[in-house]
Amino acid sequence: MNCRKSLGNVMPLNVLLRAAQEGVYAVGSFSPRCTPLIRPILRAAKKAGAPVVVQISQRELERYGVSLAAFAERFYTYLVEDDVEVPAVLHLDHTKDFHLIAAAIECGFTSVMIDASEFPLAENAARTSKVVAYAHPRGVSVEAELGRIGSTDSIETEHQRELLTDPEEAQWFAAATQVDALAVSVGTAHGAYMGRKPEIDYERIKQIRTLTPVPLVLHGGSGVPQEMIRAAVALPGGGISKVNFATDLELAFLAAVGRTERLTERECRELSPAVLDRGLRAVEIVVEEKIVHYLGSAGRGRMLLIDTDLGGNACEA
Ligand SMILES: [Zn+2]
Repeated sequence: MNCRKSLGNVMPLNVLLRAAQEGVYAVGSFSPRCTPLIRPILRAAKKAGAPVVVQISQRELERYGVSLAAFAERFYTYLVEDDVEVPAVLHLDHTKDFHLIAAAIECGFTSVMIDASEFPLAENAARTSKVVAYAHPRGVSVEAELGRIGSTDSIETEHQRELLTDPEEAQWFAAATQVDALAVSVGTAHGAYMGRKPEIDYERIKQIRTLTPVPLVLHGGSGVPQEMIRAAVALPGGGISKVNFATDLELAFLAAVGRTERLTERECRELSPAVLDRGLRAVEIVVEEKIVHYLGSAGRGRMLLIDTDLGGNACEA
């Protein structure tokens, strides 16, 4: 498999997160799930002038019937076809399988998440360090998870029960593994918040932040009110630098195409062009709204491109 591409604005995640920390905003990390939905994410980022992360997880690849190579190929093709020049990251979300991580890097992913959060601390750190040792020499960033982020459905991870991140463990873990980003469990959950109110433990984020400078990631951003996300991003002393959104995009897409059950890659491609287009427009509106009103990342892409040495492209390795 050789689908590696090279584009100047495709960067490793750490470059985007460093700028986000300095600028006190967060980068949106969006899950298209099916490949046609990659396009409206990139278009929204272009329109807003925002840095953007496009991601897919191991379970999403399986459930939606998408291949790594096809996902990467579509991402790079849409960037070129639509002249998207904002800083962009192709990110492998929650993955347990080292071989899948290696394959993603080969395909041109510039960031990967190793999710070993189900294991005890030392084992999580060992598995994460192994991925860091593999990814960093290839110019690829690594995200890990500490604590367990709960889930109301099992598409991203199967954790039903959450376990909040311990700040002192986060300090040790970040130093021991040298990860570029740490997903913390601070009250949000994957999936729709059916009958439950989203919560964010701001004190916990502040405690983690005082102990370690590693950029922090909030998973389960869908359904979390705008004010709560803005507050988590703008905490005194630094807050969340990356927020993941999946369910909100999928719900908007399904509503616009008049369906209630999730569509696989094949089913999505079987929609008539007019219906698919309605769905894609709905996704673009959601992504733009998150960028402008939740994350504060609008207009930040240009600045980042000026500040960045574009020679840092992972795909040239
Ligand atoms: Zn997640």
